[in-house]
Amino acid sequence: MSPPTGAESKSTLVDARGCLTPAGFAALSRAPVGRAPAELAAHLAGCSRCQERMLAGGGPVRPATGAPARRAPRLWLGVAFAFVALLLALGALILAARAR
Ligand SMILES: [Zn+2]
Repeated sequence: MSPPTGAESKSTLVDARGCLTPAGFAALSRAPVGRAPAELAAHLAGCSRCQERMLAGGGPVRPATGAPARRAPRLWLGVAFAFVALLLALGALILAARAR
């Protein structure tokens, strides 16, 4: 097993949108703490989609045990998203009322 190097390995670890592939998640989970590929770690830190996929099991690391635990976080994510959307709508209403 040789360490991943250069552009060739990068292209297999992220997809066309720059999000991590299952191979990317596997590379991150295999790497020792603090020695993960910097670009993957940086993307993961800023991408909620990849964070959700990582929490949901990400790839071949946990084959079958992820299914039951995956429902609750998604439900909470939906509730949180609806709440944020409500706050944004309220903020827009307040701004609109002030502008008059
Ligand atoms: Zn991503």
